[in-house]
Amino acid sequence: MTDSLFYAELTWPDSQARIADGASVFLPLGATEQHGRHMAMNVDVVLPTAIAARVAAKVGGLVLPPLAYGNRSQPRTGGGPSFPGTINLKAHTFSLIVRDVICDLYRQNVRRIVTINGHYENIGPTIEGIEMALDEIGRDRVTDLIVLRVDHWDMVRAATLERIFPNGYPGIELEHASVIETSMMMALRPELVNIGQASNDGPASFQPYDRYPSPCDGVPPSGVLSLTEGSSAEKGEWLLADCEAAIIEIISREFNGD
Ligand code: ZN
Ligand code: MN
Repeated sequence: MTDSLFYAELTWPDSQARIADGASVFLPLGATEQHGRHMAMNVDVVLPTAIAARVAAKVGGLVLPPLAYGNRSQPRTGGGPSFPGTINLKAHTFSLIVRDVICDLYRQNVRRIVTINGHYENIGPTIEGIEMALDEIGRDRVTDLIVLRVDHWDMVRAATLERIFPNGYPGIELEHASVIETSMMMALRPELVNIGQASNDGPASFQPYDRYPSPCDGVPPSGVLSLTEGSSAEKGEWLLADCEAAIIEIISREFNGD
């Protein structure tokens, strides 16, 4: 049999044994969403899954099948509803999936869970899904359960951002399909990036508020919210190394009390 890092590749007796050994379980949370003309639509799935696998390899963890659909894309953070290709879940649906997965992991004696998020709009519904799981299991019963919620972009060190953005970091909301995501995809899945198709029609200029129905004003036609210029596999490796190191440190502090 396999000693795969990927939960679903194990047999049930092997998964049971790994959980009994105390393996941490990683849930990658992604989206199927436009990422410009130059990248595949699975960026928000590929990145958290790869980061989870790197960390799981170091800490003896298991990576669950990723959630490949995300909470509804918004113009200011993912281009919104005006692009063909993007498939949206409603926030409530997304929260219920997160809740159900955590509850069923708990039922099977998993007590160390890390959600690794790759899609900005998933943040709120993930928090709600975790809270609903705690409600459903029972707040008084969950004292032995720890759930960590990580957005991969928050794992990057300030020094790395300064190296990548010497003229100033535009902020993660505008980084959609831009230098951070493009560089990490070039490092991990270069066959899914065609940098020659990047049109550099950004950066987007948004008002600091939302209007509904979403007008999508200010979303660059390419779907890239900032710029792709300067993306490279080397920068992608810097970002991935930061994510891996930071999450390993968080796990050793939160799960092992180090
Ligand atoms: Zn993305
Ligand atoms: Mn996204």
